[in-house]
Amino acid sequence: MKEELRLNDIKGIGVKTLRLLSNIGINNIKDLLTYYPYRYELMTINDINNIKNDEKVIIEGFVVSPVFVKKLTFKSNFMTFKLNTNSKIINIIIFNRSFMKNNLNMGHFITVIGKYNELKNNIVASEIILGKINNNSINTYYHLVNGLTNKLIKKYMSSIIDKSIYLDDYIPEYLNEKYNFVSKNEAIKEIHFPTSLDKLKKSKVKLIYEELFEFMFKMNYLSIKENALKDETRDVLYEVVDEFINKLPFKLTKDQISSVKDIYKDMTSNKRMNRLLQGDVGSGKTIVSVIAIYINYLSGGQSVLMSPTEILASQHFENISKIFNKMNIKISFLVGKMKQKDRKQIINGLENGKIDLVIGTHALLNDEVNFKKLTLVVTDEQHRFGVNQRKILNKKGYKPDILYMSATPIPRTYALTLYGDMSISNIKTKPKGRKEVKTIIKSEKELKEVLYLMLEEIKKGRQIYVVSPLIEESEYLDEVRNVMELKDKMNIAFQNKIKIDIMHGKLTKEEKEEVMNKFISGNTKILISTTVIEVGLDVGNATMMVIFNAERFGLATLHQLRGRIGRNNYDSICVLIGPNSNERLKVLEESSDGFYITEKDFEMRREGDLFGIKQSGEMVFKIANLRENYKVLVQTKKDSNEFIKENMENNFKKYPLYYKIVSEINNLS
Ligand code: ADP
Ligand code: MG
Repeated sequence: MKEELRLNDIKGIGVKTLRLLSNIGINNIKDLLTYYPYRYELMTINDINNIKNDEKVIIEGFVVSPVFVKKLTFKSNFMTFKLNTNSKIINIIIFNRSFMKNNLNMGHFITVIGKYNELKNNIVASEIILGKINNNSINTYYHLVNGLTNKLIKKYMSSIIDKSIYLDDYIPEYLNEKYNFVSKNEAIKEIHFPTSLDKLKKSKVKLIYEELFEFMFKMNYLSIKENALKDETRDVLYEVVDEFINKLPFKLTKDQISSVKDIYKDMTSNKRMNRLLQGDVGSGKTIVSVIAIYINYLSGGQSVLMSPTEILASQHFENISKIFNKMNIKISFLVGKMKQKDRKQIINGLENGKIDLVIGTHALLNDEVNFKKLTLVVTDEQHRFGVNQRKILNKKGYKPDILYMSATPIPRTYALTLYGDMSISNIKTKPKGRKEVKTIIKSEKELKEVLYLMLEEIKKGRQIYVVSPLIEESEYLDEVRNVMELKDKMNIAFQNKIKIDIMHGKLTKEEKEEVMNKFISGNTKILISTTVIEVGLDVGNATMMVIFNAERFGLATLHQLRGRIGRNNYDSICVLIGPNSNERLKVLEESSDGFYITEKDFEMRREGDLFGIKQSGEMVFKIANLRENYKVLVQTKKDSNEFIKENMENNFKKYPLYYKIVSEINNLS
């Protein structure tokens, strides 16, 4: 093993390149070798006579004219020359390669990749390769950042592979044999420098299986660990819980009650609870978790409720404080930005057990925060917390019961696969009196109508969210309406008479909070933002949402965004601006069932962010794609479970790689 080889030992990799690589998450040799091409192309050399106008060609021949270079601007230029392709002479045009001029002398043999224009008898080339290429070779393409070219990455890869570096194979040998997988070394080599389509495919299968096996191993191992027995069982009568429920200002829905019953059963059993509570935005998950917290309080334990953002946490704090009003439950609020004195006080209260419930953000994960007897952990919008963070919270506890809440339902089969034996409660019924959000699709041309609808809403005293997908530093920037531009446009449309504010990722946390607070207080009438509006945010008076370039969003995201409105008894309307004929958008027009929408989204969408939200760290795969490789995922789940059963007892002694993984997990939990 030559693990000690470092990136800057590779020829050509200096400080600057190290930084570039680091920007794309490559910090060591292993990172680099597992930076796989995202696309492959079979390089078949064409006969120009068989090529139709406007088709892509790969053609070879001799340079038969001097090269003519023309400067366009300081940085751009183009070259032209004639190429003799055996059967005909063609003009070649290529942009920004004037540096190649000296390699293109008359008589030189080259290969050109580009697009053929029959009428003009020319090829606008995208690439020129000096010399011959192997016919039917396979070209690889990597995702790039400025300063790194495909060629450079290939060069680095090849110098590492030449040094016969080798990476650990995470597939246990007996499985490698069972499936007849190629060796890890071969797979890595083939994935970067494919020799045939068949071998490339086999290598991909191997690496996908390996990645998913390791992932499922961790998931399975964790869920086995998390489901250990509790040290103490709770002795709480359901009647007491029922009494609490009866005192609530509203009647729980059928699904809320059955979720409460699931949770009650888990919490009073001797096995640790590991439950996911799924339900659309506004379906009323919070109150269910409050009841769990109440049960925990009755049995003398402390609870944590962790939210992904301060705004959400503070909303929870306010609402839950009201619900527990007049009860002797001590509730605190802990976030990153706090006065040292207040913070100290809360930390003390948690340590000595005076505080029964703490609501907060990631700040709760801080080393300083410890508990007397933490027996329940509730996380809101659980997707935003990674496995590691969940483990940290577990560690602070007293084998705590765990309840995850999520408004992004995962298609059922996937949930079961990914989370192993995590139990799931679903809230599908909406609270009574909740009106459905009417959803309509409008094309860009119908903007005037939309503005008119907005004005009507404002006249009624309501507020509006406008969402614009700002993709920064994107080459499509000019296509995307950025928030500023929208604000200007709307100010013109409404003659500056309506208070409009903007919210985007570039604002500081404080600025965002200020913007949000102004909207919550009703001061701002229209809030234009990128998708940074918080999941779960509750502004009852906001009854309209207008989403620009809706076709750019995943359905699950759109559905979540739409959940920001319709939180009151008012009629609410969501306008999706995009192509009227868009099949995906139509799903939203027709349905408001998050479960159905997620399944549809899953069926219809391209690869990419799977659940309509950024995946948490360990859900980002380098080569596997959960949807495309679903069968492999199911198989690795089964295989890794058997592997765990076989080796749990001797702590994976026979498998050093897994011994290490397991030790790391156990250190955290
Ligand atoms: P989410 O599932 O999105 O977290 P919340 O728990 O924030 O939803 O609930 C949304 C709103 O619905 C809250 O204002 C809550 O008080 C209210 N609510 C919850 N359950 C019911 C119910 N059964 N009947 C009426 N209103 C309810
Ligand atoms: Mg919520």
